Amino acid sequence: MNTGIGERAVVVGCGVGGIFAAGALHRHFREVVVVDKDDLSSGPSFRKGVPQGPHGHIVLKRGENIAEAMFPGFRDALRTAGGIELVTGRDMARFAFGKWSEPLDSDMTVFSQTRPLLEHVLRECLRSIPNVTIRSGCRFSDFLFDDHRIHGVSILREGRIREEVEADLVIDASGRGTGTPRWLSENGFGEVETERLGIDLCYVTGIFATDRFEDGYARLCTVGQSPPAVRGGSALPVEGRRWMITLSGRGDDVPSVDPEAFLAFAKSLPDPCVYDRISEGRLEGSVRRFKTPESFWRKYESMADFPEGFVPIGDAVAGFNPIFGQGMSVAAVEAERLGLLLDERAESGRGLDGLREEALPGISASIAEAWEGPATIDYLYDSTVGERPVDYPIRRAVFFAMQEMAEEDPVLRQLQFEVGNMLKPREALFTAEVQARLQERLASAAGIEGNP
Ligand SMILES: Cc1cc2nc3c(=O)[nH]c(=O)nc-3n(C[C@H](O)[C@H](O)[C@H](O)COP(=O)(O)OP(=O)(O)OC[C@H]3O[C@@H](n4cnc5c(N)ncnc54)[C@H](O)[C@@H]3O)c2cc1C
Repeated sequence: MNTGIGERAVVVGCGVGGIFAAGALHRHFREVVVVDKDDLSSGPSFRKGVPQGPHGHIVLKRGENIAEAMFPGFRDALRTAGGIELVTGRDMARFAFGKWSEPLDSDMTVFSQTRPLLEHVLRECLRSIPNVTIRSGCRFSDFLFDDHRIHGVSILREGRIREEVEADLVIDASGRGTGTPRWLSENGFGEVETERLGIDLCYVTGIFATDRFEDGYARLCTVGQSPPAVRGGSALPVEGRRWMITLSGRGDDVPSVDPEAFLAFAKSLPDPCVYDRISEGRLEGSVRRFKTPESFWRKYESMADFPEGFVPIGDAVAGFNPIFGQGMSVAAVEAERLGLLLDERAESGRGLDGLREEALPGISASIAEAWEGPATIDYLYDSTVGERPVDYPIRRAVFFAMQEMAEEDPVLRQLQFEVGNMLKPREALFTAEVQARLQERLASAAGIEGNP
């Protein structure tokens, strides 16, 4: 049933955030129009508008659950298209800080596939919704703005034909490169306060076809960056019986796009699992690089003034360290929250007026859920630029103690998977019993450090 809270919503950007946003809005508007500058008419392919697309993308369980709820049948469609379902802890092996994590048959699965395949499956789900129109090859060029309200967008079709699309609500899902902060500043709304964490991270990825892809072997393996060491890598089994190999580094110690140097970097990791998977493989196409100088969080909700009829979402608001695989799932949570907010407003007859006052804090709350955990790990690197919290030494000690405890305790480890997959808040880790053990461990570590 359509709540009819508005006539038309326009979503700028048909990446993962735009797809989730449209998936949440179509129940409320007579029509949802999603515009994207890229040509989206063909099947899964790397494209210019998503430069991070050639790199490893795993959607966390929370994001997957939201996708299934928004687009019933999504999981089956992804499976049929070639997505590989992996049991967390059993089919996803991790080497970090000099040792392998103990295998654990958790009750949680996630999919591994290329980002273009994931996005394609999600987009086809969206396309099947009758009141959603995807207009590809349409570049957003400006907002229609009057009387403190954004009431539509101006787009360029085929690079030259200008068209105006009126809307009751405009969503900016145009990703990291969004022009929204500049637009707000140029139109008198001021500067958006932005929290930044300088991580200076570099991903380099190649896809390899290999004869060694028998089922038992198709496990995702990761050699995690283990501070102070900055090098890491992972091998993701992807559709077409291929390996997507992503190598990472920070600062000056980064992988090369030269195929031979790429292999040498893989070989240099402290465990050979990534290198072994591709040493006899054939590189498909070229090796690609993506640099992430910083994680950022634009606090639109704290701006004194903000236009009506407008909500930014996804990477247009916050960009995370990709190593933790959160961005797409956070976008899903944001969209889900927005949908619930519209449900509530439709029910109470409040319509869209003042939506920003509730929508922007909702977006921010979704980001807050995901921001702190990874930041604690990023701060383990001296090179990370940002203001460390005053209690950082304690957080650091807690992080390492919890890692050790989880290795000894499958229940805690399962809980870590659930928190890492955004199914539970971080606080869920700290049960009374875990806190007691943690205190004991921290006290004995302090005792050891204090000994002459
Ligand atoms: C290297 C790397 C690896 C990552 N790995 C993961 C991972 O494993 N798991 C995870 O959850 N997240 C991961 N992320 C984050 C993830 O890519 C993003 O969080 C997610 O794609 C956000 O979606 P979005 O829709 O906001 O932006 P995007 O997916 O970037 O989409 C933006 C869209 O807007 C369109 N667009 C841009 N400008 C215009 C315009 N002017 N007019 C019309 N259309 C426009 C683009 O064509 C594009 O389709 C990774 C990020 C990076 C950099």
